[in-house]
Amino acid sequence: MGQVSRLLLVIGGGIAAYKCLELIRRGRERGLAFRCVMTAAAGQFVTPLSVASLAGDKVYGELFSLTDEAEMGHIRLSREADLVVVAPATADLMAKMAGGLADDLASTLLLATDKPVLIAPAMNPMMWNHAATRRNVERLRADGIRFVGPNPGDMACGEVGAGRMAEPAEILAAIEGLLAGGDRPLRGRRALMTSGPTREAIDPVRYLTNHSSGKQGHAIAAALAAAGAEVTLVTGPVDLADPPGVRAVRVESALDMRRACEAALPVDVAVFAAAVADWRPDGVALQKIKKGHDAAPVLQLVENPDILREVANHPTARPRLVVGFAAETEHVEAHARAKLARKGCDWILANDVGPGTGTFGGDSNRLLLIRRDGQAEAWPQTSKAEAARRLVAEIARELAHG
Ligand code: C5P
Repeated sequence: MGQVSRLLLVIGGGIAAYKCLELIRRGRERGLAFRCVMTAAAGQFVTPLSVASLAGDKVYGELFSLTDEAEMGHIRLSREADLVVVAPATADLMAKMAGGLADDLASTLLLATDKPVLIAPAMNPMMWNHAATRRNVERLRADGIRFVGPNPGDMACGEVGAGRMAEPAEILAAIEGLLAGGDRPLRGRRALMTSGPTREAIDPVRYLTNHSSGKQGHAIAAALAAAGAEVTLVTGPVDLADPPGVRAVRVESALDMRRACEAALPVDVAVFAAAVADWRPDGVALQKIKKGHDAAPVLQLVENPDILREVANHPTARPRLVVGFAAETEHVEAHARAKLARKGCDWILANDVGPGTGTFGGDSNRLLLIRRDGQAEAWPQTSKAEAARRLVAEIARELAHG
């Protein structure tokens, strides 16, 4: 990295702001250049003069400063850095980021930037564990925001628990890792992901489908992209936004999904989370089938192609790693093992979608990873986003060593 790396440091209003002074000093010793922005609350904890002296540059604070805007517009400020660091990231600042608010210079920069963002949260443990903050953390991770800390320990407020800001040395290590591309273990890898249900037309107004929400598949696509992979997400109809940084291909039927998957090859890893309809009506009626006076129509079904099996047995472009899902309502492990063998994939993730599990459409999941060599790992119940990150970490390890 011949050039000096430039950081935009957003200092939030928390007692841990004092640690930023050391972060800047140590960072500059290591050759990093800092441009600093302070929130109004940050000024209650450290002075702009201390920050400016250590950074060797003026400090920005106001969104509507005519002099600042004339010298350096806020959009340019947000784009000129190689990396944006928020330390301390207060509960308030994280909530603003998660909600996309932009009511001061700091939050506006964070919304306007096109650069990676690393945040170092710091807050009281009750605030860190509050359901609202948990939601914001999930949202921010899904948006690709990187975290360092917080650490457990004694808090300035006298309480003990998770919420201490990471130490300057840790933040610097995270910064250097990010600048070196270190947290993007799938950089340069191509990934194919299927997600959501398929819709199998009966006539122009009716179709067969299932309850898949696409939440788990989309979360995996987001995690693959956050790890640096070039991701093609082939998705059936879902009520979800395209995850950031993926190429989404929207399809309806199993036959469309198969075509889109074939077109996405070759890839290094393919993960099949879509709930592809097993059957489709044999021929689509060209006009709406009318209620007749005779008996109800009989649907003649034909089997859909098994996309996972086809890709796992592809004659010329089999991905190095092929991962399937097994949604079962009983005998989960036994059925999943049989499926792994039948489909010819490398790993299968089994989940229980039986009544009462809340897996379909819910936000959490409990998965069992079974590898081709027979090893099984039961994962705890976690959010679908957390399960996705865990799977991506396993994929990265496999592609690095396998
Ligand atoms: O056979 P079953 O539908 O239970 O297999 C589930 C796994 O196979 C999932 O990974 C699913 O995405 C994939 N699949 C597929 N094409 C099909 C049926 C299932 O890719 N037609």
